[in-house]
Amino acid sequence: MTERFIESLFTKPDEPFDYALRPKALIDFVGQEKVCRQIEVLIKAAKMRSEALGHCLFSGPPGLGKTTLSHILASALNTRLVVTSGPAIERPADLAIELSKMKEGEILFIDEIHRMNKTVEEYLYSAMEDFVLDIPKSTRIPLAKFTLVGATTRPGLLSSPFRSRFFFTSRLDFYSVVSLTQILERSSQLLSFPCDRESLEEIAKRSRGTPRIANRLLRWVRDFVSVKAGLKVSKNVVHDALHMLMIDDHGLDEMDFRVLHAIVHQFGGGPVGLHTLATAVSEEPDTIEEVHEPFLICCGFIKKTPKGRESTALGCEHVRRTLSTRMSP
Ligand code: ADP
Repeated sequence: MTERFIESLFTKPDEPFDYALRPKALIDFVGQEKVCRQIEVLIKAAKMRSEALGHCLFSGPPGLGKTTLSHILASALNTRLVVTSGPAIERPADLAIELSKMKEGEILFIDEIHRMNKTVEEYLYSAMEDFVLDIPKSTRIPLAKFTLVGATTRPGLLSSPFRSRFFFTSRLDFYSVVSLTQILERSSQLLSFPCDRESLEEIAKRSRGTPRIANRLLRWVRDFVSVKAGLKVSKNVVHDALHMLMIDDHGLDEMDFRVLHAIVHQFGGGPVGLHTLATAVSEEPDTIEEVHEPFLICCGFIKKTPKGRESTALGCEHVRRTLSTRMSP
């Protein structure tokens, strides 16, 4: 179970736990300062003109706050947010049902928008631009001026005509340790689980720059502490708790390490193609591309070249150090 811990955070639906910790307003949304300042302008302008917000597209790896920002937008504008996902809108008729229910200024949030059927995507063009839906063998459906907010982990898979119809597009980046520590401070207060700063920093360092992971690791540490009677949180306890999940001091989990190790040892540092790599570590190519690779690149452990994935000197060193610690008694 441990080697899939990180991956499971990206595939499992949000639990009530996540909702409880989700910031409700921009003021509680930590980090991503540039995006937040831009969103503040968008909100103020929409309010001043009493107009619907322009269509927005948020991209970036899972767990960085795309959904959270969409909820914040709706609540700042005091409007309804309808949540759906790309794979859920299978046919143009599904889209027509969703859109015809939208009232002026309301927000339709489509998560994983890159996974939407291409035919459906094309019907969205006129809906976004002219607020009408032209479905063959059906009447022309006029729509209220709604706002579409899309979230995607793979912006490159959206066609350029589609992307160009968004008024505002923004990419969320991995968070710094300082920002994650701040997020964890807030979460530990909300969970009534007081932690010293050093312990929170230790969790932050191993959270892959991702708030969702930081919060889940905090929860794991809380569980770890509560089952070990008499234990108080400390940096060492955090270390032990995360060691049990096989998360190393860089935040790499077992599968991250296997990917890196395979590139370094099995493929002599690369370049190696995605599918060959996926077979070598028995993992889905999509998962490697969406979950493991972005973080290994962010750590500077691998790089992507036109010929495939290659390890860097830093990556080789990390493998060497990890193996020597594992072999030492
Ligand atoms: P995404 O939609 O990008 O996958 P979410 O918006 O669902 O990510 O974020 C996952 C969780 O991480 C949220 O429930 C929230 O608790 C936390 N979170 C995300 N971004 C922030 C942030 N900037 N500040 C505080 N908490 C955050």
